[in-house]
Amino acid sequence: MSALLRELIHVLRTREGPVREIPRPGACCVERDGQRQQLQDAVRQSPREMVTGESHYVWGVRCRLKVIKRPGRAHVEVDGDRLLMYVPEDADLDARTKLLQDWQRKQLRVRIPALITRWEPIIERSVTRWSIRRMKTKWGSCNRETGHVWFNLELAKKHSRCLEYIVVHEMAHLRERSHNDRFSALMDRFMPDWRSRRDELNASPLAHEEWD
Ligand SMILES: [Zn+2]
Repeated sequence: MSALLRELIHVLRTREGPVREIPRPGACCVERDGQRQQLQDAVRQSPREMVTGESHYVWGVRCRLKVIKRPGRAHVEVDGDRLLMYVPEDADLDARTKLLQDWQRKQLRVRIPALITRWEPIIERSVTRWSIRRMKTKWGSCNRETGHVWFNLELAKKHSRCLEYIVVHEMAHLRERSHNDRFSALMDRFMPDWRSRRDELNASPLAHEEWD
C-alpha cells in the first residue's frame, strides 16, 4: 500500500472517530485543562515514515517528500511542491526526522524576528527573548514578567498567516493575560482577520507525535 493511500485511510478513520475534534479558539496558550484536551484530541496525521511519496506540509503547502540517498552533508530543500531530502545511505528514521525538524526550526528562525520587529511598535510591548519548542498542546506561550515568548515547531507547517497570528496573539498577552473581552478587543484592533487565521491554524491536521 502506498504511503499516500495509508495516510488517506488513516485520515478518514481519524475524522470519523468519535472523540476527535478540531481545537477551539485560544487552545494555543491557555493553561486550562479543557482547552489542552481539545488540542490533544485534534486530528493528527499518521506517523511519518520519512519515505519518498509521503506528504509533508511546508508553510501551509502540501509537499511530496523525495528522499535522495547520497554521501555528503544531509540537507533539505523545497522545489515547488516537492520536499527534497538529501541523506546518506545509513540515515534512519530518527536521523531523517531530526533533519526535517532542524530545517523547520531554521525556517521559523528566519521569519520570526521580522514579525516581532514589525508588531512591537503596534502592540507597544517588547519581546525580550523567544524560542521554538515542540509543544503538545499549545501553538505558543509567553511569560508576561520576562517578555519571553515560545513558538510551537509545528507552526513551520502552517501558512505564514498563522505564524503571524500566534506572534500577535502572544504579544497581545503581554498586555492582557486572559482570553477575555479586553483581549478580543485588542486582537480586533491589531489584526481584524485574526479569527480566520485562527480557524485556518486549527483546521489542518496536527503532526502525529509520540509524546513522552
Ligand atoms: Zn492565548
